[in-house]
Amino acid sequence: MKKKKVLIIGAGIAGLSAGSYLERNGYDTEIFEDHSIPGGLCTAWKRGEYTFDYCVHWLMGTKEGTGFDVIWDELGALENEKGVKTPIRNFEEFSRIELSGGDVVGLYSNLDRLEEEFLRVAPEDEKKISKFIKDLKKLAKFKTPVATEKWGIKDRIKFIFSNFIPFLKVIKYARITMEELSDQWDNPKLKEVFRTIFPPSWSSLAFIFGMAFQHIEAAGYPVGGSLPLAKNIEREYLKLGGKIYYSSKVEEILVEDDKAVGIRLEGGEEYFGDDIVSAADGYTTLYKMLDGRYLSSQLKKAYEDFSLFPSSIYLGFGVEKDLSDMPHATLLHLDPPLLLSDGSKHEYISLNVYNFDPTLAPEGKTTVTVLINTWKDQYWQELAEKDYGEYKTIKADLSDKVLNIIDEKFPGFSSTVEKVDVSTPHTVKRYTGNWQGSYEGFAPTPVALMKKLPKEVPELNSCYMIGQWTEPGGGIPSAALDGRNLARRLCKRDKKEFISSRKMINKRS
Ligand SMILES: Cc1cc2nc3c(=O)[nH]c(=O)nc-3n(C[C@H](O)[C@H](O)[C@H](O)COP(=O)(O)OP(=O)(O)OC[C@H]3O[C@@H](n4cnc5c(N)ncnc54)[C@H](O)[C@@H]3O)c2cc1C
Repeated sequence: MKKKKVLIIGAGIAGLSAGSYLERNGYDTEIFEDHSIPGGLCTAWKRGEYTFDYCVHWLMGTKEGTGFDVIWDELGALENEKGVKTPIRNFEEFSRIELSGGDVVGLYSNLDRLEEEFLRVAPEDEKKISKFIKDLKKLAKFKTPVATEKWGIKDRIKFIFSNFIPFLKVIKYARITMEELSDQWDNPKLKEVFRTIFPPSWSSLAFIFGMAFQHIEAAGYPVGGSLPLAKNIEREYLKLGGKIYYSSKVEEILVEDDKAVGIRLEGGEEYFGDDIVSAADGYTTLYKMLDGRYLSSQLKKAYEDFSLFPSSIYLGFGVEKDLSDMPHATLLHLDPPLLLSDGSKHEYISLNVYNFDPTLAPEGKTTVTVLINTWKDQYWQELAEKDYGEYKTIKADLSDKVLNIIDEKFPGFSSTVEKVDVSTPHTVKRYTGNWQGSYEGFAPTPVALMKKLPKEVPELNSCYMIGQWTEPGGGIPSAALDGRNLARRLCKRDKKEFISSRKMINKRS
């Protein structure tokens, strides 16, 4: 029987995952990617001897038996071409936060140690701290259901019973905002800790999950970082028979009688398939590739009302020094705040010292990055388009300012810097296409988390959307799961048994 052809737009994690699972299920797939490399936001770039990693800090599922590990295994995401497993780093102190009064609070991965730290800072909140830590320990037992395709009624009941308490905690914290979580403490320092981590209106779930899974060492850092992770998935996809067209920007999804039939690239070439899957940014898919013709009121509302993850100013410093004595992740408190030329004001910036990943710099040297969030994407787009010289000057001024800030905290730092790289929202948009340069799509507010955005474009046959713009809060695991779930959906529609294992296919071929 002739294989069905599926055209996938975007070789980010969602697109690669969809392609990989569809190939093993007998679909003929082709991925069209605007950039020249795989990974989308899950990426890194090299400047001289240094690699600046843009994305992964923690990856859910790095421990066997915790849920998402199933997907990494199936996709081959955490092993090299010889099958050697990627080393995983779990941190004793996940991150530390400098407070306005000068105190420094460690976010320890071990929850008993975290409890001690919170009690040191806020003894008056003892009861509430104890309850909070207990909740996190319960939540750490939550196992995301991934491989549910063969589940019968007994499996479902077993899952519900074994995950009932953790699941109640998921629901509880999904509804509580960071502001509410912060407000529960009497101690002002502890309030400040929770106010600095994420914006106040966001659900606290992402933070809570992060801390809970650090405790059981199930959300570590894969050594090598983001790009090897994406390239591992790409390699296995290609081995299964998939095909990727790089530097191929999709301009339009071709439609006949309310059925998606193909795509047209920027250069005018057209490709036709049985199903079209967009794993690219949601706004571009709906409003540009489909010209706003297929929008339900739910989708319109999401794109008009939901708040977004910010975009970023990301500074990379190549340091000709071994910085193993520096903390690896610190939220620096700035007094006075840093004012950016885009009008945004920053009381905190995030400093990451990659002294835990020897693959990112030569021996004796270290890669350091600074992340500054901004929602002022428009400013950076206009600046780069109107006056590229001025854009470059502003970037250089900013890196000087940031180096001065780091020098104040770690004297002599800037004199060891031999490479500087600054990326902006303009860069994010140019290389990933994400709307407003947002680096994780819709923000995980309690309202957005409760909404299920459609995976099928409304009123249009054979057209699907996956990835971070259909899963508020984004993240690498949810993008990968989305690709897997899409393949299951198409198999179900086509009355095929879903095959999840790449190894079974490799053995058969
Ligand atoms: C700074 C930062 C830190 C992060 N930290 C973490 C972390 O620690 N843990 C975690 O789990 N997640 C993290 N994330 C989030 C995670 O990287 C993303 O949510 C996830 O990678 C999104 O994958 P995606 O496939 O849905 O989308 P994308 O990565 O955006 O992929 C979409 C792809 O489509 C392509 N594309 C777009 N338009 C077109 C077009 N017209 N034609 C062809 N191709 C097109 C793009 O080039 C891109 O390759 C982080 C992200 C950033 C930026």
